[in-house]
Amino acid sequence: MALSGVEIFKLLPKTNCKKCGHPTCLAFAMKLAQRQASLDACPDVSEEAKRILGEASAPPVRPITFGTGPKSVKMGEETVLFRHEKKFVNPCAFAVEIKDTTADSEIDGIVAAVAASEIDRVGQKLRIDAIFVSNASNDPGRFEAAVKAVAAKAPEVPLILSTSNAAAADAGLKIVADKKPVLFGADESNAEAMANVAKTYKAILGVSARGLDALAALTEKIKSLGVEDMVIDSGARSAKEIIENNTLIRRAAIKKNFKALGYPVITLAQREEGMLETLIATLGVAKYAAIVVLSKVEKWKNLALFTCRQNIYTDPQVPMQVEQKIYKVGEPTPESPLMITTNFSLTYFIVSGEVENSKVPCRLAVMDSEGLSVLTAWAAGKFTASKISQFILESGIENEVKNKELIIPGYVAILSGAIEDKLPGWKVTVGPREANGIPAFLKSRA
Ligand code: SF4
Repeated sequence: MALSGVEIFKLLPKTNCKKCGHPTCLAFAMKLAQRQASLDACPDVSEEAKRILGEASAPPVRPITFGTGPKSVKMGEETVLFRHEKKFVNPCAFAVEIKDTTADSEIDGIVAAVAASEIDRVGQKLRIDAIFVSNASNDPGRFEAAVKAVAAKAPEVPLILSTSNAAAADAGLKIVADKKPVLFGADESNAEAMANVAKTYKAILGVSARGLDALAALTEKIKSLGVEDMVIDSGARSAKEIIENNTLIRRAAIKKNFKALGYPVITLAQREEGMLETLIATLGVAKYAAIVVLSKVEKWKNLALFTCRQNIYTDPQVPMQVEQKIYKVGEPTPESPLMITTNFSLTYFIVSGEVENSKVPCRLAVMDSEGLSVLTAWAAGKFTASKISQFILESGIENEVKNKELIIPGYVAILSGAIEDKLPGWKVTVGPREANGIPAFLKSRA
């Protein structure tokens, strides 16, 4: 159980020395209870208190990393049930399944699709993160060959080896043990054997049981066998079960600090039908999965899932914004148009994307609006005629352009007169309201 502020206070030195940056030990204890402070901040805490508080303050969902290198995947460390309470920490990973019955040529195609899945969206790199190699043949030799082929073709991609056959697990893991893979497939029938293989190769063990009680009992048993790092699967396959079980697991971990379910969750979303698979995967993303397994890589599906994941895992307390400056799109000349917008990341990337689509070289003045979009920034008084004119004057852009013309977003057409008043010698032109009108607008002027 998590300790209350008063219980934590009883373990602190109670000298109110303020070295932790808090006025009293009680204030520090309250922050610790809310997981908003670290025990390290108190230099005088006793070893005994450190031990007790260290255990109690460990993240309720165990932090585990699988894979190695720049593409490794962090899981767990979550501390809240709802994103608005603080934030969700580690975005869930998407893994695509490759069965060991798949022909070599097809494996090449899937690996290539994983490599090509990476996109840049609002400044973040998004991709299919892992490959889930499954032992569909139940033949250890075939599994070993498939793992070898995938590891050779995709050396940087984190791997999940899925088998309930301990001999196959051993055969696969001995090839990729140094890549810190997940071995998925421990259940009530093979727990000892799979725990032994996972321990031998220091792999993370994926544990499945039907229902939460059975799952909790199984993780306790496997922990007692010496395996600390696990990902868990409650057997949920339908949408209803995924929502129910994943929510109950997160709730038990966060609210009750129930260690037997305090592990990252894996959701198997594979379906024959792509739209249904996307829907199930989306539920996994929204409801606490750390890994979502897909049957295929498809671009349309990637876009939907990446967007969903990014929306859920951005920090709601930090607006996504880009640096205030004059960006060049293409290779603008002194005659090229100058447009202005705000520095909300999504606004910047959509507007600059549409300017690129127009193929008209352009300068894009991106003004700091504390990460707000155009209309919101205008309503909040952060995108006003005074601020826009000040930004344009201070930027020095008038020395780079021949025509002193500033194109403003159509939504703030009302500002055009006031900006012209504050920018003597400049002409203000009202551009389209929506970004998708930019290509036609720019082409019509070229
Ligand atoms: S540093 Fe430690 S002893 Fe000093 S006020 Fe903070 S919690 Fe209390």
